[in-house]
Parts: sequence; structure tokens; C-alpha cells
Amino acid sequence: MIRVAVVGGAGRMGREVCRAVGEAEDLTLAAVVDPAASPETAPPALGERAPAAGVSASLEALVGAGVDVAVDFTTADAARRTLPWLAAHGIHAVVGTTGLGPEDLAMLGRAFRGEPANAVVAPNFAIGAVLLMRFSELAAPFMESVEIVELHHDQKRDAPSGTALQTASRIAAARDAAGTPKLRDPTTDVVLQGARGGEGAGGIRVHSVRLPGLVAHQEVIFGALGQSLTMRHDSYDRRSFMPGVLLAVRRVADLPGLTVGLDALLGI
Ligand code: NAP
Repeated sequence: MIRVAVVGGAGRMGREVCRAVGEAEDLTLAAVVDPAASPETAPPALGERAPAAGVSASLEALVGAGVDVAVDFTTADAARRTLPWLAAHGIHAVVGTTGLGPEDLAMLGRAFRGEPANAVVAPNFAIGAVLLMRFSELAAPFMESVEIVELHHDQKRDAPSGTALQTASRIAAARDAAGTPKLRDPTTDVVLQGARGGEGAGGIRVHSVRLPGLVAHQEVIFGALGQSLTMRHDSYDRRSFMPGVLLAVRRVADLPGLTVGLDALLGI
């Protein structure tokens, strides 16, 4: 039985993770940490899925609860404090929090190197989104140009999404490796600031849409002479992320140091 803690357990994703862990026969929900839920508010917030110890505002609760793996769905600022603490306390980390940049990943690489604890960080745990990134990488060298449109619910704090940033950097790396000519932006007159989106890795334009009703969606649009190739992934429900999260929870102990993305876990 793997003992799991959920950090950010009262949030939208955290509540889904609590539910998924509670329903898995080989996992136990051992602790929940979230400043938004005190022990008094835990039962209504998490219902029967709340561990006996309730919800704590402090990470110290993980030590007493004998936690093997902590799942983090919080904010980038919070994760920057939580993850080194987990490494130092020998607790494996599965991290879905987005907004972590290359410097953060370098810091995590150092924090988890040589420790008894490992970390899996994935900006998107939906298997379809992981495949979209891989397929985009395969298409990248063969198409002249590419732009990314990511669409999310209207509560998302960071823009663009971590998935869009990672997709852009993987496409840029694939284009570089194949010697594909640099992207060319024809725009000389920006009438409305931001109209061409943000510039991701390799100059790839990334456009963020925020609307109520959406969950998490992404289109990668490739263009070439007289043709385009559009690939789209849609998460309609936060449950779409759970098989990937549980896969990482079950495998993190066997993956030394820091693993970024689910590709290695899927063997793709
Ligand atoms: P949310 O509903 O705002 O939940 C975040 C929760 O974390 C809140 O309850 C928040 O409490 C809590 N929190 C903040 N600081 C904390 C700390 N130091 N310790 C413990 N808990 C803390 O957000 P969400 O929609 O669940 O998204 C959470 C993160 O997951 C975001 O970064 C989002 O982009 C990412 N995400 C990733 C994936 C993926 O597949 N990787 C999928 C969806 C979302 P307060 O409200 O009191 O601050």
C-alpha cells in the first residue's frame, strides 16, 4: 500500500486527486495539506475522502503520517517551498503545479539528486496531451511554421499554460535538431499589443484563451506551402488527469532524481 499525501488538497485538482487516491485499492490517502482548509472545515470540503488526521495547514503533518508520495497541485510559489522540503524529508514528489520555469527545474534537479526521494514533474497528466506533445515533436521538422493556442478555464492564474511552454520548447528542439529554418514572423505593424501572442522557445507564438466553461485544451497548428496540420487535445473534466497522476504515484519510487513529463513512464 502506497501512502499518499495531497498538497493543495482543497483545490480543484487536489480534490480530484483525493478522490482518485481514495478509490484506488493500492493507495491510501494519508494526509492532506492546504491552507484553505482547517481541520474544522475538512469534512465538508473533502467528505469521506478526508484522512483520519484531517487537513493540515503545515507540511509537518506528512512526517507523522508516514507519507511515501506527496502529490502537489498548488501554485508555483508554494511548490518552490514545498518541493525542496519533500526532498529533504525523503518523500517522493509528483508535481502537477504549473508556472515552474527552467530555473525551477534546475533547482529541483539539484534538490532531488542523490536523495532517497525522487520527483516526477508534469505540466499535463492527461495521456492525450502527452501524446499531442510527442506527435508535435514528430511533425515539427517537416512543417515550415507552427503556432500554439491554449484554452483554459477562467480561474487559471498563469499564462501561458505549462503544457504550451513545454510543447513549444519540444517543437523548437526538434526543429533545431533537424536544421529546420528559423521561424519568420511577417508582422511589421502591431495594431493591438499582444495580438501575435507571446513568443515561446524558438520564436513559436503562443496564444492563451481564458473562458468560463473550458477546462484545459490545446491546439498545435502547423503550416506549410498550401497545407496545414492541426492537432487538438481537450480535457473536458479534471478526471482526465487522474490516470496519469496515479501512474506517476505508482512509479515515482523507481525513477531516480527528477523526471520531467510522462513520456518516460509511457515508454514513448
Ligand atoms: P486551485 O483550485 O486554486 O487549487 C490550489 C490549492 O492549493 C488551493 O486550495 C490553495 O489554497 C492551495 N495552496 C496554495 N498554497 C499552498 C501551500 N503552500 N500548501 C498547500 N496548499 C496550498 O488550483 P487548481 O485548478 O487545482 O490548479 C492547481 C495547479 O495545478 C495549477 O498550477 C494548475 O495550473 C495546475 N494544473 C496542472 C494540471 C496537470 O495535468 N499538470 C492539470 C490541471 C491543473 P488557497 O486557495 O488558500 O491559496
